[in-house]
Amino acid sequence: MKTFPVIGDKPEDPSSIPYELAELVYQAYSSQFSGQSLERIGQRGGFGASEMDLLLPSWRTILALGKIPKKGEQYGECNRTVCKQLGASWYNSSTQRFYCKSCAMKINEYNPGLCVRQDPTNFND
Ligand SMILES: [Zn+2]
Repeated sequence: MKTFPVIGDKPEDPSSIPYELAELVYQAYSSQFSGQSLERIGQRGGFGASEMDLLLPSWRTILALGKIPKKGEQYGECNRTVCKQLGASWYNSSTQRFYCKSCAMKINEYNPGLCVRQDPTNFND
């Protein structure tokens, strides 16, 4: 399995993560910053664990699950086609897909209660 290096801050931090997870973190990174490619970040030692906590708060959960979420899946990208928000935690019982908080709120304006938050933690709201 292709991996990506992690600069740990605590003893329990991993020294690497699956490359697919790094790509998800990079998606969050590149929505806020520009410049460095994922490859370049890897050459410079990788993402810092605490940096990833800010960029993609659900990364540890995704790592523990061992499965990279696709668009519309829990913790993945919001299911709305035009929305790129990561950390989707709101479950729509009609589409049976996950949405970001802002899209879930819009859906609930028209169909109150349709989207319900599934994440027991405080990841990305
Ligand atoms: Zn959204």
